[in-house]
Amino acid sequence: MKITDLKCAVIGGSPMVRVTTDEGISGLGQAESPKHYLKPHVLFYKPYILGEDPTNVERVMLKIRRLGGFKPWGSAVSAIEMALWDIAGKASGLPVYKLLGGKVRDQVRAYNGGVRFEMRGATPQDYAEDMSKMKASKEGFSIIKSSIGFHSQMPARVPNFSYAELRPGAPHPYRGLLTERGLKHVIACIEAMKSVLGDEVGLALDCGPGWMVPDAIRLAKAVEPLNVMWLEDLITGDYTPYTLADVYREVTRSTTTPIHTGEQIYLRQNFKELIEKHAVNIIGPDPADVGGIAELKWVAEYADLHGILIAPHGIFDGLIGLAALVQVCATLPQNFIAFECPAPKPAWWYDIVEGLPETIVKNGLIDVWDRPGLGVDINAEKARPYLAEEDKGFFD
Ligand SMILES: [Mg+2]
Repeated sequence: MKITDLKCAVIGGSPMVRVTTDEGISGLGQAESPKHYLKPHVLFYKPYILGEDPTNVERVMLKIRRLGGFKPWGSAVSAIEMALWDIAGKASGLPVYKLLGGKVRDQVRAYNGGVRFEMRGATPQDYAEDMSKMKASKEGFSIIKSSIGFHSQMPARVPNFSYAELRPGAPHPYRGLLTERGLKHVIACIEAMKSVLGDEVGLALDCGPGWMVPDAIRLAKAVEPLNVMWLEDLITGDYTPYTLADVYREVTRSTTTPIHTGEQIYLRQNFKELIEKHAVNIIGPDPADVGGIAELKWVAEYADLHGILIAPHGIFDGLIGLAALVQVCATLPQNFIAFECPAPKPAWWYDIVEGLPETIVKNGLIDVWDRPGLGVDINAEKARPYLAEEDKGFFD
């Protein structure tokens, strides 16, 4: 089998990758939805993979893996890798999880990072009300993640929150020391959310990046009695092209509150220091940024050898990304906690993707499906109205 084409179309704001072959089998991959600019980057890899056998996934990846980087520049490589696994599965008549060594669980746990409601403000009361709505959501999630600190509206909406100047604009612009009032506000909001969740539902917190070490340690120690699931991306994180493992280690060694990072990191090599230094307790690679499905599994196995847990990121990965997460998470060792459930928008995504269960998340769990490849496909006829003029040939 030979690769005959690599295509990219932005559908509903989401960059979709399609790899076609000379045997009529094609594969799909998806990058994070905010990356509408990715199409030329995806097509950059086309000359490197044309003519290759897509079922030798690793051999193809050796040609393009070095030509990527931390988020957003590992996304195209990651989406291509997903599409190769999709083809390899379809060609063999097996679900991707079988090709990764087989599943170790029949259901995978997903956590709520995307079922969201409009918040009136950023007070403890607002956070408590928001948490009540999320706790009641029909998916029955057993872990809910909320945004606080520099990963939230707090710097803009809470007076005297930080000594840093307000810096709106690019993703996650803030970095600096919090005021005492700012830190107390964050802690009060976490307490308010925990008062709603009790010990029935786990609370994870996306915090940054941009925290200073003394604040990060103060926060982590202050919430120790609350048993939160994790504090995410305090130091580095989303759209940060480095990890600062030593700085993370200083925070992690100072507290019993689990410390989490990793959604923007590309490749196993860039997790090496975080893992070997035990710089965090939990890592959160995203299959659509880390370099793909098999790369995520490798990182998970290596983390497990070091007593580090994994809770993969995925909020913007869409329904093809969801399929990739389900397939790989079914195979991860027992350091797997849960993955962040993608929440695709617009809602018509659910109409154009076939192969998903009628109800995707039940009691916070997703049944692992057994169809070949990723097990989901886009219905070309239903998707065509959403294609831009320049992408009309995407399904040809
Ligand atoms: Mg995050």
